[in-house]
Amino acid sequence: MSALLLNPKRSSVIGMDYPGNLFVVAAPSGTGKSSLVKALMEVDSGVAPSVSHTTRAPRGQEMHGREYFFVQNSEFDAMVAAGDFLEWAHVHGNRYGTSRQTIEQRIGGGGDIVLEIDWQGALQIKRLFPNAILVFVLPPSLEELRARLLRRGEDSPEVIELRLNNARLEVAQASSFDFVIINEIFERALFDLKAIVHAQRLKFSAQKTLRADTFKALNIT
Ligand code: 5GP
Repeated sequence: MSALLLNPKRSSVIGMDYPGNLFVVAAPSGTGKSSLVKALMEVDSGVAPSVSHTTRAPRGQEMHGREYFFVQNSEFDAMVAAGDFLEWAHVHGNRYGTSRQTIEQRIGGGGDIVLEIDWQGALQIKRLFPNAILVFVLPPSLEELRARLLRRGEDSPEVIELRLNNARLEVAQASSFDFVIINEIFERALFDLKAIVHAQRLKFSAQKTLRADTFKALNIT
């Protein structure tokens, strides 16, 4: 029998033996996490992204409903009060949250999903879903991280210093994660991420569902 977890906010029950995989990727800003996740989804249509809600304003070409659902503070407050978020956190002065409904539907239906969220959110998710697979992406060094943030050219020097200071604290959180990828060479890091995803699908319990006919023919229970 599967272990069950009671969620008091909604009185909903989250089964720990949900059939899909829940991947959570966290990293200090500028590490290349978004590019890695985007590249993974280009080659693996079995993994869907989770689109978070945020109170921050859109940047550049970002579109409502694609990168984020951009909402006002009042709407975010209402969603928190209604228990619509599985987790939410303050990050760099804004609030970000993961929709409960999207996640439950996807992994409950047997699909894989990837959450690109900060480490606080990742640890909250692990408490709710002990089977979630937590991946931390590290930069090869803080010097390289500074160089990448400068090259990206999106932030003022003050914001870059803030992000670097945060990064010094954030990297220590890697010890709470299941997997660590060092993003030194992009292709190598992508290979590592793909390997983590692939390995989950080779687990006995996953194969038993995916290859039910083979298991039956081989009389494996
Ligand atoms: P950005 O504003 O640069 O897109 O994201 C800032 C940080 O917030 C990143 O570390 C990003 O992963 C994180 N983030 C995005 N969505 C969520 C979310 O739903 N929950 C949490 N906890 N963090 C998020």
